[in-house]
Amino acid sequence: MPDGLRNVSAKDVNRKSTIYVLDSTALIAGQTDFSKKEFATTPSVLSEVMHDESVKNIVEVAVDSGQLEVSSPSETSIKEVEEVATSTGDRVRLSRTDLDVLALALEKSRAGLDVVVISDDYSIQNLARRMAIKTIGMIHPGIRKQVTWITYCPMCRSEYGVSSLSVCTKCGAELKRRPVK
Ligand SMILES: [Zn+2]
Repeated sequence: MPDGLRNVSAKDVNRKSTIYVLDSTALIAGQTDFSKKEFATTPSVLSEVMHDESVKNIVEVAVDSGQLEVSSPSETSIKEVEEVATSTGDRVRLSRTDLDVLALALEKSRAGLDVVVISDDYSIQNLARRMAIKTIGMIHPGIRKQVTWITYCPMCRSEYGVSSLSVCTKCGAELKRRPVK
């Protein structure tokens, strides 16, 4: 794990201001009340949700009123998140947009803010926890523990551990993933 990812300590939370980082699932769910809190998201998330007229209207008002900040994380932060994702086996489940969201959350956390990622994506929730960033879901209750995904072959039962392989090197079958218990 890169240095600095563990720098959020629980006792500091009370005096920090909280920022909620939204992914696409959070915006599409459309239950976000922008009037009461501070929010942030990335341009890549907006490009995934703005085709929906009702989401677009809500988002535009929130951006105009300064309640929703839209910013891109640095490539360095994205690379750090990718490294953590690779180590947990979540990398193959995360899109570039997902990495952006997590990298933005990481940057806000390092800037001294209390960060909460709002997402219904289990891999995003898992990674956020690995980086000591809080997360809540819109629809499903959040996962309660961190998960590492093991790659295995459903046909010949070969196991590949944490891997980004998609096809079994022994029998050619499509590989599956399961959480380590
Ligand atoms: Zn196989």
